[in-house]
Amino acid sequence: MKKHLLTLSIIAALAACSPAEKPKPTEKSEEQQTGKIDAPALEQKLIVKVYDEKINAKFIKFSADLIEQFWQKNPGYAVYVGYYKYDDQLSIPDEAGLKAEIVFTKEKLAQLQAFDVSELNPSNASDYYILQNQMQSSLFNVEELKSHQWDPSNYNIAGVFGVILNTDYKAKDERLRTIFKRMEFVPEYYQAAKANITTPTINHTKLAIQQNQGALGLFTGALHTAMTESNLSTQEKADFNFRIAKTTSAINDYVSWLEDKLKQIEADGSAKDFRIGEALYEKKFALDIYSSLTAKQLFDKAEAEKNRIHGEMGKLADKLWPKYFATQVMPDNKLVAIKALIDHISVKHVEREKFVASVKAQIPQLEKFVSENNLLEMDADKPLVVRETPEYQRGFAGASINAPGPYDAGANTYYNVTPLDAFNDDQAESYLREYNHWILQILNIHEAVPGHYTQLVHSNKSKSLVKSIFGNGAMVEGWAVYTERMMLEQGYGDFEPELWLMYYKWNLRVIMNSIIDYSIQVTGLSEQGALDLMMNEAFQEEAEARGKWRRATLSQVQLTSYFTGYSEIYALREELKAKLGDKFNLANFHNQFLSYGSAPVPIIREMMLNSL
Ligand code: ZN
Ligand code: ZN
Repeated sequence: MKKHLLTLSIIAALAACSPAEKPKPTEKSEEQQTGKIDAPALEQKLIVKVYDEKINAKFIKFSADLIEQFWQKNPGYAVYVGYYKYDDQLSIPDEAGLKAEIVFTKEKLAQLQAFDVSELNPSNASDYYILQNQMQSSLFNVEELKSHQWDPSNYNIAGVFGVILNTDYKAKDERLRTIFKRMEFVPEYYQAAKANITTPTINHTKLAIQQNQGALGLFTGALHTAMTESNLSTQEKADFNFRIAKTTSAINDYVSWLEDKLKQIEADGSAKDFRIGEALYEKKFALDIYSSLTAKQLFDKAEAEKNRIHGEMGKLADKLWPKYFATQVMPDNKLVAIKALIDHISVKHVEREKFVASVKAQIPQLEKFVSENNLLEMDADKPLVVRETPEYQRGFAGASINAPGPYDAGANTYYNVTPLDAFNDDQAESYLREYNHWILQILNIHEAVPGHYTQLVHSNKSKSLVKSIFGNGAMVEGWAVYTERMMLEQGYGDFEPELWLMYYKWNLRVIMNSIIDYSIQVTGLSEQGALDLMMNEAFQEEAEARGKWRRATLSQVQLTSYFTGYSEIYALREELKAKLGDKFNLANFHNQFLSYGSAPVPIIREMMLNSL
């Protein structure tokens, strides 16, 4: 689950850097808010609107220019998405850079204002809102959230250098020359970083130390080796060595500067709290997630959903207890009984040697279920390639979708599954119990069919660069989570109680992500409090819960994207069902929903309602 779409994590990181008031494109008229659209209004909508081609062409030109300028200003991010025009540039995050960023985003926002959205066709209109949201986000990050002042892990150069070194987009010697040019900026980059960091948090400082120490290895290891083995001239190699030395010394200097800083803030108590508090959290939530709800409303919704699911699990426990524990009395505490059942049946899992093969075998079964039940359109032209994760991409065990970037749309989509080779017997057993017989099926629904992979195939048809670059994370994750429940409700697995019990456990994880993220960042939930919630109320293992606590102290809002997107998609479906009655068709709903690309759910909702 961790890293499908490299771009997604970048979006999260980017978002970590950015917007303003919230003139949400989702502002709805009263009638839309109540879901009441009267009949005459509906009939008017049936007249197909003719859009002014000139205005739309002008907007397309505007967004293409904006993206080009964006890459110019963010050359490293461009490399991540496969756009290499500025690959020898490293932008310096200094005062002048920050000011330029503000000027740029304000200028773009003003230019956007000059367009009349009602003149744009649906695809351009949604691009419009996405771009506006991006610009607002970026302004918010620089002017209000200011993580450049308190999050030293914002500064780390290794990733992009690694991509240039390891991606075969031009001859290796040329890539090395690019790297050589790019390294020139490193000392200045870290100078700017040190000047920016005024009020670091302890957690982000520790993370930055750890990550930058890790970065050193790339320069002294893989890069140095590649350079030595290259066809560069003797002089080039000498210059290269000199520049590697300057680069590593800049990184080392940054690390020791951070170590001193850490000692100092720990000693004098001047560290900034990693919790961003309610006001910033609400704003960041509005901009990053792009929900129709406030963060607080979402939190309340997650609480209610958690309670509902505990109730459903309780009923399943009543049913399953006698089957597995005939001779034992069921504990009074339902949560304890549920936990015992989950632990007991988790021993049903595939053999470790067959892990990759069983994932592979499941994909056609899922596709068959989807098409036999006419749940949505599947594209046979672009089959998913299931493979063992390439060595250089392993790090986490697990499975993830590896999709081609927006500039390489013709490439294969891979479902990377990591074999359990690196595990000892105990680790493998524990992993296999977690991804047991039932959870593994739900994981495949989520990652592949009809989750992330299927959504990607549909979104590639909408051909919007804006949406593939700035796609909405809550929509993307929400869709994958939505399909898990949809498949089970449509009868995948024949309503087997064990499958539903495991599904609820899995689903509680995304609900709990939302609950703890809000509680930690806004209401000051402690580590122990968070662990208790995750372990006792969401049946998580301690290691998982501790990892999640750490993540929730280092990021804000992103953990809520899964549940927000999912619950909004589900609510939209139910809304349309109620509205259309007999005319509602599930496949049509899914196909139309996916046709807008990775746009925020509230925007898709508006477009779907408008198309009725
Ligand atoms: Zn076992
Ligand atoms: Zn996912």
